[in-house]
Amino acid sequence: MIALDACIDCVQAAVNGEFPEDDSERERIERALTEWADEGYPIITTAPDDEAEGFFSWSPCGVCGSHLGGARLAMVALSVDIEREV
Ligand SMILES: [Zn+2]
Repeated sequence: MIALDACIDCVQAAVNGEFPEDDSERERIERALTEWADEGYPIITTAPDDEAEGFFSWSPCGVCGSHLGGARLAMVALSVDIEREV
């Protein structure tokens, strides 16, 4: 499990399946989520504790890397155990 501070766009996409209307923004976030899945973390969801209150930050989004300042929310990336047959 990896703790992340995610931008609102990523939270909306990962939790609600709602992507930005802007095509390039939508693609950017879809790509970020796909990359997380490819790395073995297909599930990105809100942090289980109650620290999920948003805060303002100029730090890059932990999910998509957006450098835009804005609200960040505590999220976690969850891995799955995939049995690989070699
Ligand atoms: Zn983001």
